[in-house]
Amino acid sequence: MKPLGPIPAGYAAIDGELAIAGRKASEWAAEAGSTPLFVYSADLIRQRLADLRAAMPAQLHLHYAVKANPYGPLLGLMDGLVDGFDIASGGELALTQAAGIDPRRISFAGPGKRDAELEAAVSQGVTLNCESEAEAARALAVGDRLGVTPRLAIRVNPDFDLKGSGMKMGGGAKPFGLDAERVPALARAIVAAGAEWRGFHIFAGSQALDAAAIADTQAQTLALAARLAGKAGAPVPHCNLGGGFGIPYFPGDEPLNLKAVGDALAEQFSHLPEVLRETRFCIELGRYLVGEAGVYLTRVVDRKVSHGEVFLIVDGGLHHQLAASGNFGTVVRRNYPVALASRFDAAPEEEASVVGCLCTPLDRLADRGHFPMAEPGDLVAVFCAGAYGASASPSAFLGQGPAAEMLV
Ligand SMILES: *Cc1c(COP(=O)(O)O)cnc(C)c1O
Repeated sequence: MKPLGPIPAGYAAIDGELAIAGRKASEWAAEAGSTPLFVYSADLIRQRLADLRAAMPAQLHLHYAVKANPYGPLLGLMDGLVDGFDIASGGELALTQAAGIDPRRISFAGPGKRDAELEAAVSQGVTLNCESEAEAARALAVGDRLGVTPRLAIRVNPDFDLKGSGMKMGGGAKPFGLDAERVPALARAIVAAGAEWRGFHIFAGSQALDAAAIADTQAQTLALAARLAGKAGAPVPHCNLGGGFGIPYFPGDEPLNLKAVGDALAEQFSHLPEVLRETRFCIELGRYLVGEAGVYLTRVVDRKVSHGEVFLIVDGGLHHQLAASGNFGTVVRRNYPVALASRFDAAPEEEASVVGCLCTPLDRLADRGHFPMAEPGDLVAVFCAGAYGASASPSAFLGQGPAAEMLV
């Protein structure tokens, strides 16, 4: 028997079944017309934003990292809830456009931006977080060609990383951002070239559950921004402090202590150095805003016993849930929160593995968990499916195709 991850707050049973946004899982499946499907709860996302606003200093702006979940209706919801959007490709820019988001509220990071992407961004007034001197030069050239003043910030490769983070994005040699010591010279060059100087983007890592580690990184980020601003000799209109707020996925994970992070940041803001007094600060969050608000529902197609082990074979799998299968940046496979949605409040009776319908041993959504007895037709819920699910999984693999998505 292996433990399952913790089921996020906000989910209850109705008539013994998992309820999402006040309706039973089977009703959402019926409404979608097919399984598997992703259901995203707008109420849980609103609640998460409200909790964040309450815990963070009032002057901190909150941005949404579109990469976590670019589903159109969800972007539309976010437009009314956050202060800005961070994108990482021309494709994501097109998705935000389709959702009607004002491009002036968007910043664009990511290595390897092509000229066509730079043109689309510059012409619409998107802020570019330049990842290198060469990219900044290309952005300036695009501005000249189009007759538009580009809005340019610099993504800094910080000389520290976010401790305990699931994915390190700073500290040492990295393809992201410009090494800190080269930043002041590029900032001066951007100002001298007549671009609109937008400031710094400093992202040190992702998926941290330790409030002290996040607070420590934010303090280091502020100190770095002040140092770079001083050397650049230019004010910093905007500073993106990164994000990294994690959610509990695995057995033993505890939710982030939001108040501790907010209090520490308020303390930092109370004694900002002179060069940062006029700066507008933001953080950019993806999974923290939407991850726990999403559930992936998939139906049991077959129940098999092999050498005494029970396998519940479902109609979904890693092609929609690469992360839950343990194949998206994890070293040791551990179980996500997974439950039998159709028997949500029933007591566990047997050990079973939930496996997907793909013909590969990698396709495992729960490894030897403790579940109520399941039969073909039952629905399985994989939680924490609101981020890095549909868009971060190989849905074309084995000809399966994408899952339905709904924002409810
Ligand atoms: C991936 C990424 C994010 C979002 O990370 P989460 O862990 O989902 O919050 C934010 N900013 C940058 C630069 C990223 O690469």
